[in-house]
Amino acid sequence: MSVASEIIRFTDELPANVRLVAVSKFHPVSKLMEAYSAGQRIFGESRVQELVQKAQEMPSDVQWHFIGHLQTNKVRALLPYVKLIHSVDSERLLDCIDKEAARIGRTVDVLLQLHVAQEEAKFGFTIDEIAELANSGKLTAMKNVRVVGVMAMATNTDDDAEIRHEFAEAHHVFYKLKDGCFFGNDDFCEISMGMSDDYRLAIAEGSTLVRIGTTIFGEREY
Ligand SMILES: *Cc1c(COP(=O)(O)O)cnc(C)c1O
Repeated sequence: MSVASEIIRFTDELPANVRLVAVSKFHPVSKLMEAYSAGQRIFGESRVQELVQKAQEMPSDVQWHFIGHLQTNKVRALLPYVKLIHSVDSERLLDCIDKEAARIGRTVDVLLQLHVAQEEAKFGFTIDEIAELANSGKLTAMKNVRVVGVMAMATNTDDDAEIRHEFAEAHHVFYKLKDGCFFGNDDFCEISMGMSDDYRLAIAEGSTLVRIGTTIFGEREY
């Protein structure tokens, strides 16, 4: 299937409250333009330099989402181009984004990455860390960061029940935050979860943003 026909298929298949992030990392701008021509406007990248480069080459109405592990020393380069950072995984990174956003006089939308997978290697806040951060009042006090939801990645496994359990856990944390420190805050509304192999499970557990790469663009050549 072509890139354009995959975009159209997702546009038809996804429920109205779920948006598609076309994960274009490692693919050339020509491929991204095929998706763009089919109507896709949200693209996800996992490396700062690649996002910045592509943002300069692509039309200006593209919304760039950053989905990879972000180092604090790359925040300054990223901010002018990014619409949403999915992968905020530490308080230190949150502070850094707030400071750099203040420096350029803008507000940046972010998601808090939750660690729900069994794998040790995955980044993100544990449930306890999130509770502590929420209770500290810090999340709602930051002036230049707007926390608009959570992001999660499931364990890389064929066990659908395990994946579903992890997505349900992320959904649960989202609702605890929504009823807690984000009570009455309509900006806090996004749950980013689901990739090529597990997006249907993620949607069943309440995802509002699916991050799809391989199904749209084919295998990546690293
Ligand atoms: C690469 C990546 C994706 C896309 O994965 P596919 O399996 O190619 O759909 C989604 N989310 C994150 C965080 C990624 O790094």
